[in-house]
Amino acid sequence: MTIAGKGVEGGDAISVLNPATGAPFASAPDCSTDQLNEAVASARAAFPAWRAKPDSERGQVLKTAAGVIAANADELMRLLTSEQGKPHDEARFEVMGAAYWLSSMADMAIPVEVNEDTAERRSETRHVPIGVVAGISPWNFPVLLSFWKIAPALRAGNTMILKPSPFTPLTMLRIGELLRDVIPAGVLNIISGGDALGPMVTAHPGIDKVSFTGSTATGKRVMASAAVDLKRVTLELGGNDAAIILPDVDVDAVAKDLFWAAFRNSAQICIATKRMYVHEAIYDRLSRAIADYAESVKMGDGSEQGTQLGPVQNKQQYARVIDIIDDCKSSGYRFLTGGDVPTDKPGYFIPVTIIDNPPENSRVVQEEAFGPILPLLRFNDIDDVIAKANASEYGLAGSVWSADTDAALSIAARMETGTVWINEVQHLSPFQAFAGHKQSGLGVENGLGGLLEYTMPQTITVKPAKAG
Ligand code: NAD
Repeated sequence: MTIAGKGVEGGDAISVLNPATGAPFASAPDCSTDQLNEAVASARAAFPAWRAKPDSERGQVLKTAAGVIAANADELMRLLTSEQGKPHDEARFEVMGAAYWLSSMADMAIPVEVNEDTAERRSETRHVPIGVVAGISPWNFPVLLSFWKIAPALRAGNTMILKPSPFTPLTMLRIGELLRDVIPAGVLNIISGGDALGPMVTAHPGIDKVSFTGSTATGKRVMASAAVDLKRVTLELGGNDAAIILPDVDVDAVAKDLFWAAFRNSAQICIATKRMYVHEAIYDRLSRAIADYAESVKMGDGSEQGTQLGPVQNKQQYARVIDIIDDCKSSGYRFLTGGDVPTDKPGYFIPVTIIDNPPENSRVVQEEAFGPILPLLRFNDIDDVIAKANASEYGLAGSVWSADTDAALSIAARMETGTVWINEVQHLSPFQAFAGHKQSGLGVENGLGGLLEYTMPQTITVKPAKAG
């Protein structure tokens, strides 16, 4: 771990598995209560000097850190594939994304709002750092989603404790090691541990804000724990994103994009398309084209050349997706492709599985499977399909596909989600707000709004002193 700028062994250790083999290949430190206290104390001690640095100096540190990550991308890519399972190209893209987020946030200005500027008074609102921020990240994008928190938190002048998922701690621990000479001691502490560590972090009285990405169920626990001393929270949670495909699309041109919208990262993306509503006029052709393309995609060990999809990341997730596949089988739904999970191979491999028009109230439509299974759903009425897309406790993102931009925009305006993409999905940027509506989250990441989540407003008024 990296605590107070030094390398620290854990009191105990947790085992890390390679999901392509299901076998342990490394161990990671299990942070003790004393070590967590030490990390929080070092972040607290580093805060005054870090916040006092001019923006440009903090920005320069972030840019140097970005350079170190990019320079070590090959090693980090291999490590990320071994613990997460994703193909090397995707792992490299994720690592380079972290570097890009750091360097982009480094230059983002934090505005000062002038509320009044008169002879009587000047009033302005500044945005000051909060203090010690804890970042808690999931296993699907362990590096990028950690840097969605680290980049704005540090840019705004906070210090941090970052805790990656126990399933995927290694790449972030290694990045902590690489950045020890770049980021001042205590400003970024990276710790790891088992299931007990997350609740210890959210309950710690020395932490001022928790920025969490993970499941909705855990997000509620984080918020309840943070409520005890009114820690600030940002929550990025689950989703059940709908894609609505209008009859005027070019079926052959969009089939591949729609496949990847659902299955990239073996469908372990919060903003993966998880329900695909296809107009009945093109349903048969498009469903066949997507299923045909699916059969051409190579699934395997992410470290092997040519692999396009890796395994599911962990055993619990694997069991959950198989349970949904079994439910589809026992309910008699038709499989357009997939459904037969190999039992003679090591690793958590689940073939791409596409279900043909299951009922709206089926588990495969209603639940976030977070694995390679997708329902295709036939529709013929726009109002009805928008109502179905919105009939979810989630409100993360969605997409509309059409040659008619105005028609797509008018559907987008009626969708109850934080992001709507038209003719694409998953376009994300450090300059673009990303927020979950309903039970998909609280607050916002990225863009100026995301940066300001790591600040508190402070209004200062100045009245000229009375002459004596
Ligand atoms: P998870 O909720 O199980 O775990 C996320 C993190 O929280 C891990 O680091 C875990 O150790 C920690 N944790 C677990 N229990 C905790 C507790 N009681 N207190 C504090 N921390 C605790 O999520 P996961 O399975 O790692 O990730 C998958 C989920 O994350 C999916 O639902 C997915 O949609 C969601 N997700 C959301 C976004 C987004 O930006 N909205 C992005 C990626 C993933």
